Amino acid sequence: MSECNLISGCIFFNDKMANRPATAELLKDKYCRDKFEDCARMIIVKALGREKVPADLFPNQASRLSEIIKID
Ligand code: SF4
Repeated sequence: MSECNLISGCIFFNDKMANRPATAELLKDKYCRDKFEDCARMIIVKALGREKVPADLFPNQASRLSEIIKID
């Protein structure tokens, strides 16, 4: 198990977008502290760059990836 290297600047991890803290903590355990390569935000960073990550994109919203990458 390892941590995502984007943690320090990630608005999700730093609670700038969490409206349900308990759910956010579960997502942090699942993605930020474990399977960060599956995180939707990380996938956009790799594909398009950090500035292209939608502010409201949660780590578990992989279903939005094709829409985001296609539009860009
Ligand atoms: S939300 Fe994604 S990009 Fe942000 S720290 Fe967690 S795993 Fe990394």
